Amino acid sequence: MALYVPLAALDKGVVRLSGEISPGELGIELANDPCLRIERTFAYDVSVEKTGNELFLEGVIETTVDCRCVRCLEPFELALRLDPWTCVLPLEGEEAPPISHESVDLTPRIREDSLLALPQHPLCRPDCQGVSLQKSDSKTPQDLSDEKSRSVSAWSVLDQLNLE
Ligand SMILES: [Zn+2]
Repeated sequence: MALYVPLAALDKGVVRLSGEISPGELGIELANDPCLRIERTFAYDVSVEKTGNELFLEGVIETTVDCRCVRCLEPFELALRLDPWTCVLPLEGEEAPPISHESVDLTPRIREDSLLALPQHPLCRPDCQGVSLQKSDSKTPQDLSDEKSRSVSAWSVLDQLNLE
């Protein structure tokens, strides 16, 4: 089921839409990306206002994305939150959303904007140093901040890669 807003309701005033929609209902498929899985429900809370021949949308869209860090390969959860999410949808022309049964389909735009907000190279944290440091649990935070040990670890990773 897609996310529709009836034109008749918009003619009466602002329409507030809130609820949940599944990635499948949004038409999101990322089967080929090993580092991003979108399988959890999206929550939305959006107000839609019709002015002339345009819809103005404003609200919040959020979900949780299951990621795999491209450096250390550890799985982690990423909160994807479009807040505030705003967009203007012209009701005529090439940019116009699909309309069926006198209702505007908001699904394509929400899908597009959610996909655009995804990281291209998900990292578990901005300074993730990759596989080597993740495994060394014995390291203290001081060790981690020591540039010398960091570069040594980086070289040992390279050595391992060369051997394989
Ligand atoms: Zn990582």
